[in-house]
Amino acid sequence: MAHIVSDEAEKILDEKFDVLDKGFVRLVDYLGGDARIVQAARVSYGKGTTSVRRDKLLINYLLQHEHTSPFEQVVLTFHCKMPLFVARQWIRHRTARVNEISGRYSEMGDEFYIPDPDVIRKQSKKNIMGRDELTEVPAELQNKVLEILKRDRENAFAGYKDMLDDEIARELARINLPLSLYTEWYWQIDLHNLFHFLKLRLDWHAQLEIRLYAQTLGMLTKKVAPMAYEAFEEHILGVRKVSKAQAERIAKILKQHDPDLLVEIDWLDLESPEGGVY
Ligand SMILES: Cc1cc2nc3c(=O)[nH]c(=O)nc-3n(C[C@H](O)[C@H](O)[C@H](O)COP(=O)(O)OP(=O)(O)OC[C@H]3O[C@@H](n4cnc5c(N)ncnc54)[C@H](O)[C@@H]3O)c2cc1C
Repeated sequence: MAHIVSDEAEKILDEKFDVLDKGFVRLVDYLGGDARIVQAARVSYGKGTTSVRRDKLLINYLLQHEHTSPFEQVVLTFHCKMPLFVARQWIRHRTARVNEISGRYSEMGDEFYIPDPDVIRKQSKKNIMGRDELTEVPAELQNKVLEILKRDRENAFAGYKDMLDDEIARELARINLPLSLYTEWYWQIDLHNLFHFLKLRLDWHAQLEIRLYAQTLGMLTKKVAPMAYEAFEEHILGVRKVSKAQAERIAKILKQHDPDLLVEIDWLDLESPEGGVY
């Protein structure tokens, strides 16, 4: 069997897609695609791809029932450039293989994330971790924030250069550089774990800046494995968690107002011997 090639992925291979003011994501390479997932899943029957419709059904079935190992057969390598604070959140996803630029070997560039004035917001009262994305702050306050960020990064970078001029080791001179500094890495991950990353980082609870990277990664992933990505949107991204108490409450309401629908969504009826996960 020849290599699996996605025409859509080939078109954008190596192309840089801008994220934030100076960052990017670039698909460097990929191994496998929808056809590889199907081949891997059907290995037990000795059959590969049959028809597009059947392949799509199979991929959907696999993700819906959390039969995820065939998705690990697809691997994507990205080259990404992001601010350090985004990298710190990103690196928590331990199942990827990473190679990052070294501030010990290389002199760091004068490249910092400068937020668009429009994304400077006050602390959200709804999302304790995030910013209030609905209410704009006055222009004077935006300018004040931008001025503080500029002052501090310029000061920190001037100190860094000063120390390098005195031949202080790069690994020490860099330690005061701020989290807005850009870094770069190669990031390789299989599709199963990439879907997990995307589920968490496309969510509105995730910080806006990493969400923008996740959106670009998602767009590129879709080009490598379009059927799998569609199944991901349906069975992972679009799925909402319901607690036992919430399920009981919804089932009670449906029993009163729409018992037929309750039969259809059998897993909600915790009393039913057929349905339910309990
Ligand atoms: C909105 C948001 C807010 C967050 N806030 C914080 C925070 O305040 N503080 C903080 O520290 N972190 C925070 N995190 C990071 C979070 O706790 C996880 O570390 C991160 O999302 C990676 O998730 P993961 O471990 O499932 O992913 P991965 O590391 O990619 O792992 C994928 C899966 O593999 C398995 N796995 C991988 N490695 C191991 C292992 N060594 N042992 C056992 N199982 C393993 C687990 O099942 C895991 O779910 C936040 C994440 C999000 C999305």
